[in-house]
Amino acid sequence: MDYQNQLREFNQTKEFFIAIDSDGCAFDTMEIKHKKCFCPAFIEHYRLHDIAPLATEVWNHVNLYSKDRGINRFKGLALALKQLHNHKDIGKNQSLVPHAEGLKSWLEKENKFSMASLEREINKHGDPDLVRAYQWSFASNRLIKENTQHLRPYEGVKQALNLLSEKCDCLVSSSTSVDILTTEWGENGILAHVQMIAGQEMGSKSEHLALSGISRYESAKRLMLGDAPGDYQAAKNNGALFFPIMPGKEEESWQEFLQEGFPRFLELRFSGEYEEVRVKDFFNILT
Ligand SMILES: [Mg+2]
Repeated sequence: MDYQNQLREFNQTKEFFIAIDSDGCAFDTMEIKHKKCFCPAFIEHYRLHDIAPLATEVWNHVNLYSKDRGINRFKGLALALKQLHNHKDIGKNQSLVPHAEGLKSWLEKENKFSMASLEREINKHGDPDLVRAYQWSFASNRLIKENTQHLRPYEGVKQALNLLSEKCDCLVSSSTSVDILTTEWGENGILAHVQMIAGQEMGSKSEHLALSGISRYESAKRLMLGDAPGDYQAAKNNGALFFPIMPGKEEESWQEFLQEGFPRFLELRFSGEYEEVRVKDFFNILT
């Protein structure tokens, strides 16, 4: 299936466009996915058991609490390996941390970082670094399936989506796979509020916004909600406004959006100081 073509069928039915990130923005999944899924699979598949506490610290820092929060999983993997390798406390254990050169060069030349694109590359020349990354990713997906059953969206999300979908064309833009997203949004009865779900298979968030035809909407009528700098970047690459769902203050952020952000957006009073203050606070809490 050509997923990107599917995005081109996104229909303009309203004056306003809103893209919503899923993990850590609509759903409280970031912590669970990293702490119970990606990180344990990282320790297992990269045989980091002897330095598990340090590996965990580095993993969580890169993927949850730094400016790289929300980064694509494979890029996050390469970054975690690099930071772990160079960590001030690694000492004689440095040799335990693989360089994963094959992964690095794939990340440099590829532009779609998904299981499918990784698999295509492995089929070409079976690089062991890529096989390992694939196995880690596969194991992570299995853990995600086991650990994230019946998640609930943050308080305020359902109510917000009800309002949003009346006035705006809504797109979910996420770097998780479409089938996981469809399950999460579907079982919470919020799938009907969005016109389409764009996931990992459809490219980057920036591409999601561009391909869905965001340029058809006036720039003051385009908005992205997200919890990571990559979401902010995707919005700005597409001339859209950005409302941050603050890591650790997600429910307050949704309340703020319901009470002030969304009315301002509809009244075209969102850009300028209101947006700037929120974006500044957002970047200040990530180290
Ligand atoms: Mg997110």
